[in-house]
Amino acid sequence: MGLIVQKYGGTSVGSFDRIRSVAQRVKALHDAGNQIAVVVSAMGGVTDKLIAMAREVSSDPPEREMDVLLSTGEQQSIALVTMALLELGVPTVSLTGRQAGLRTSGSHTRARIDTIDASLTRKYLDAGQVVIVAGFQGVNEEGLIQTLGRGGSDLSAIAVAASVDADVCQILTDVDGVYTADPRVVPDARKLPEISYDELLELASVGTKVMQSRSVEFAKKFGVKFEVRSSLNNNPGTIVTEEHGSMESVVIRGVSIERSQARVTIIGIPDEPGMSARILSALAEAEINIDMIISNIAHDGFARHSFTMHTNDLGRAQAALKPVLNTLGSAAQLESEAGIGKLSVVGIGMRSHSGVAAQMFTALGAAGINIGMISTSEIKISVTVDETRIEDAARVVHAAFDLDKAPS
Ligand code: ADP
Ligand code: ASP
Ligand code: MG
Repeated sequence: MGLIVQKYGGTSVGSFDRIRSVAQRVKALHDAGNQIAVVVSAMGGVTDKLIAMAREVSSDPPEREMDVLLSTGEQQSIALVTMALLELGVPTVSLTGRQAGLRTSGSHTRARIDTIDASLTRKYLDAGQVVIVAGFQGVNEEGLIQTLGRGGSDLSAIAVAASVDADVCQILTDVDGVYTADPRVVPDARKLPEISYDELLELASVGTKVMQSRSVEFAKKFGVKFEVRSSLNNNPGTIVTEEHGSMESVVIRGVSIERSQARVTIIGIPDEPGMSARILSALAEAEINIDMIISNIAHDGFARHSFTMHTNDLGRAQAALKPVLNTLGSAAQLESEAGIGKLSVVGIGMRSHSGVAAQMFTALGAAGINIGMISTSEIKISVTVDETRIEDAARVVHAAFDLDKAPS
């Protein structure tokens, strides 16, 4: 017996049958004497539909109103899951983000969670009720509804688990856990029994969408150990926890891909202090998220900067850089390219092993896959490749590091 926080994602509550089966799972835990808070996402596809609706009436939907609209998806599912549990005779209440005390700040559509006042949640739990909390939403100091960025119900779940000091936190989804690669792309990907916060954080930030990256950051900060597992079976999942000794012996934990990347290159930049700052400030002001940055000195004495971003931001980046280009002198020119994919390998064992990049590049070369840009961190190597080859690249690198086989 204990206090359990579970989160069910969009697919897991994606139909009335699925909602009934979530209710059965929660009932079983309640019957066994546990206290349970359940965070739910909108039914699968609903958030995308709401976004499409906004675009029907607005060319550039205001973010404040997007939050009002998008938060309704989760509000539908908390009511439906609660009704399904009540139908089974389980005492249950639903709580919106505001009612569950989730206080947010920052920009609309990508707010942070600042604090949680879990008093109402606790009151219901102590009275023996199951509590169903709307994921992905909170309210800011002014009382305005804010959402937490796509995939943000993961963050709500981790935050709720931290605030009630849960004994168990489970993220239930449509796969059995965190795999060495997206099993939809790499068929022989292997389920990992455990992974460190840092590794999952790196993987999530380079495209592994099984957990929202900010939720992993939050879990690490507050020491919330959690499990990613399936809502469709009872197989053991993946434990996400603090790094420990034996984890370092595995060099690569996983492979991740990101599609729809674009590259902007500015050539002919005078080799003088302040030039990079000018370029990057313009992009920052336009709130464009830059990913890889590479700069080098060409032999003609002019510098060259390249950076990658999501293709959706390319138009805005070009517009933001145009006025800057005029201030860089007559040699400066802007080139851009879309249709780029990014492949990353992640593992804390990289800190103590050398030759990982060589092994990765050799495998890609042997498969005839050309590498564009390269960037590295302590536990990650990323390369860009032509987007049409990105899935091949993931499979080739997965095989090169024997990720389908359990480490001995
Ligand atoms: P939910 O709706 O439950 O939040 P998501 O769709 O956000 O679920 O995340 C689950 C999906 O993440 C899986 O269906 C899988 O295709 C994808 N995924 C990508 N990379 C991985 C990985 N390394 N391990 C497991 N799943 C992954
Ligand atoms: N419904 C939101 C989304 O689709 C939040 C979530 O599912 O985690 O992004
Ligand atoms: Mg998700």
